[in-house]
Amino acid sequence: MKRIAIIGAGMAGLTVGIQLNDFAIVELFEKSRRVSGRMSTRYANNYQFDHGTQDFTVRDQAFKKFLAPYMKTGILKEWKPKLMLIEKGYVAKTKNWTEKHYVPSPKMNELCVAMAKGINVQLNTEIIRIEKKEQGWLLYTKDKQEFGPYEWVINTTPAPQAEKLLPDSFSGHQYFKKCKMFGCYTLMLALSAPWKWEWEAAIVRNSLISWMTLNSNKPDRSNEQTLIVQTDNEWSENHIDEAKSNIQHIILEELNSLLSYDFSDSQYLTTHRWRYSDIKQAAGVDYHLDHEQQLGACGDWFIKGRIEAAFLSGYKLANSMKKKLC
Ligand SMILES: Cc1cc2nc3c(=O)[nH]c(=O)nc-3n(C[C@H](O)[C@H](O)[C@H](O)COP(=O)(O)OP(=O)(O)OC[C@H]3O[C@@H](n4cnc5c(N)ncnc54)[C@H](O)[C@@H]3O)c2cc1C
Repeated sequence: MKRIAIIGAGMAGLTVGIQLNDFAIVELFEKSRRVSGRMSTRYANNYQFDHGTQDFTVRDQAFKKFLAPYMKTGILKEWKPKLMLIEKGYVAKTKNWTEKHYVPSPKMNELCVAMAKGINVQLNTEIIRIEKKEQGWLLYTKDKQEFGPYEWVINTTPAPQAEKLLPDSFSGHQYFKKCKMFGCYTLMLALSAPWKWEWEAAIVRNSLISWMTLNSNKPDRSNEQTLIVQTDNEWSENHIDEAKSNIQHIILEELNSLLSYDFSDSQYLTTHRWRYSDIKQAAGVDYHLDHEQQLGACGDWFIKGRIEAAFLSGYKLANSMKKKLC
């Protein structure tokens, strides 16, 4: 069997791993302590926050079929929050979603954790360089570990990171150039007083805040009341290198003003910076395989900043590779 290295254990990397696991010897490399990437859960004191992905929709039949077992076992649940549209300067309006939205239970990373079962994932392993030798591709880490040789390397990191990692000989560099990504800030709060608003999730307009969720009211979350506040794409991009303490102050002031309430005495307050969050301009193809170099790239940024897009990019790449591996 051929040996394949996959860099990144988010939705795209895990999808490739699952699809190819019976066709090759698959090894995933993930720089973080846990799998999930932008579908992660933040653990802080006794609190847990879905600080990246909030929920997702399922439109494609392949994605629906893939998720069916997770729905059956209750790892994936439909989420029907009381939804509000808050437009600064206008009266807030209730809103209804027109399609089903899903969340993993009891926390966001649960789906990727379940997907990773049975796959060889090396955590805490940041790949900083890959090199082609006579025997195949070798992968190197910061602390000078060497992995390989592999016949194929598939990169699933966001485009700017992939561009640095894949060699100049990779035929897909045009896609790195084409893709533009937004950053985002997530403010996480553990509330010190009972929640007094009717909504559980809010779309926000005319503000540096774009989205808020009463995280603790999602399916099967713990009883501690927690709130997630996420910033607008354009605003985030314009402030992406600012000091986090300053950013936190600005977001908190805006939140206080939007809800006419002072959240500064929250039991826990922290801010996460997502340098690569959403997609401003996608690569415009589903994935890229360089058959000559035996290198590939996939991830949400090829299609759209959505979980379903990350799945489909990985799924389609893997299906195309299966034909070569059989
Ligand atoms: C704040 C926020 C809110 C979002 N909200 C939603 C939403 O509500 N609905 C929705 O559908 N989507 C949402 N998304 C988008 C969604 O999270 C992404 O589309 C999806 O998770 C991308 O998956 P991926 O596998 O392509 O990339 P990632 O999840 O980024 O996975 C890439 C992985 O590669 C790892 N990695 C990077 N460099 C290296 C290296 N050198 N060596 C080893 N590992 C490396 C990373 O740690 C990461 O785990 C949101 C994203 C963010 C950040």
